[in-house]
Amino acid sequence: MNVVSDNAQRPTSSSGSGGKSAEKIALENNKLHKRLCRLVGQAIGDFNMIEDGDKVMVCLSGGKDSYALLDLLLTLRERAPIHFDIVAVNLDQKQPGFPEDVLPAYLEQLGVPYHIENQDTYSIVKRLIPEGKTTCSLCSRLRRGILYRVADELGCNKIALGHHRDDILETFFLNMFFGGKLKGMPAKLVSDDGKHMVIRPMAYVKEEDTERYAEVKNFPIIPCNLCGSQENLQRKHIKAMLREWEKKHPGRVENIYSSLSTVVPSHLMDRQLFNFTDLQMDGVANPLGDIAFDEEPCATPSSVPGVIALQRDL
Ligand code: SF4
Repeated sequence: MNVVSDNAQRPTSSSGSGGKSAEKIALENNKLHKRLCRLVGQAIGDFNMIEDGDKVMVCLSGGKDSYALLDLLLTLRERAPIHFDIVAVNLDQKQPGFPEDVLPAYLEQLGVPYHIENQDTYSIVKRLIPEGKTTCSLCSRLRRGILYRVADELGCNKIALGHHRDDILETFFLNMFFGGKLKGMPAKLVSDDGKHMVIRPMAYVKEEDTERYAEVKNFPIIPCNLCGSQENLQRKHIKAMLREWEKKHPGRVENIYSSLSTVVPSHLMDRQLFNFTDLQMDGVANPLGDIAFDEEPCATPSSVPGVIALQRDL
């Protein structure tokens, strides 16, 4: 059963698309769909996120990222050489104005097993947190506990979240700027209660791609500001900073992201990660060793103006 409607391959109207022809738009949509499938498949493979026999609980908030996650996992399951089950779960936190029919209608139409968990965390948070104080930390702690319990009740051994590359980068900078830690958001990690495997199959996907994909697939997005709380302001600033960098220095954000998977512990200062105390010389040349006063090469030397001038003078 192909449970995924294939709007991604369907031409859409050319209005608002810069006068592109329907064929061109269809081609771009198709490329986007393929790219997303490839990136999600790659992340799943790289981190061994899903194995044969798994039951994956896909957390569906009604936002673009979680819709894209469910959609792409369903597509990949059709093609996967292994068998795994998917259950979509939404936690209805009883925020005022939450349109409770939207997700069940969408999931019925897809034919995906699903569960809506009704828990009025909104009232609890409102009761316990004084007016004007930020409610997100209690709200998300309550949500986390409920989702772990639901995963147990549904017999799910994996919990899939829709966080993407930009969420991971923003978290990385938030932790660095405000927490003094080099720490991002893991693609796969055991939950803090030690009982669940949390996976983020969208870890390699750019946010702008999920935005476009949501438009192409026409997901019935539920607004995320129903609780009335402000989105984390610092995260907003970091998002803006990254977008600005990407605009002014194309490739910089991509490089920062790849640095997260190319860590050189001996060139950092964490004594837990690298044993500086017992370090010994072994007389063997090592390109990863210290290069004394030399600058780390960070650009192709011939492209650096100073080097070009120096080469001319020598
Ligand atoms: S924005 Fe609202 S729903 Fe989201 S974590 Fe904060 S309080 Fe909870």
